[in-house]
Amino acid sequence: MLTSFFQCSCTTHLLALQYDKEFKQFYFCFYIFGNLRISLKQKLRYIWKILTTGEIYADQVVLTKKDAMRMANLIFAEHVKNAK
Ligand SMILES: [Zn+2]
Repeated sequence: MLTSFFQCSCTTHLLALQYDKEFKQFYFCFYIFGNLRISLKQKLRYIWKILTTGEIYADQVVLTKKDAMRMANLIFAEHVKNAK
């Protein structure tokens, strides 16, 4: 599975973009790192998620190829519009 990482400009978040060829879907995984001020309950929820699923990302969005292309086109269109 092809994976690309994009760091948030705040440097606290990371976005991993993966493409699953078999299901033709894109996975957007959000990672949170750094010195975050989160509650003990939230920390325990992250720990429990890692222990039970083995997944270390905070959350994930799955897009179909069609929606991923719509998103890419929107980003590209805004880039072209603002590049002038
Ligand atoms: Zn951020």
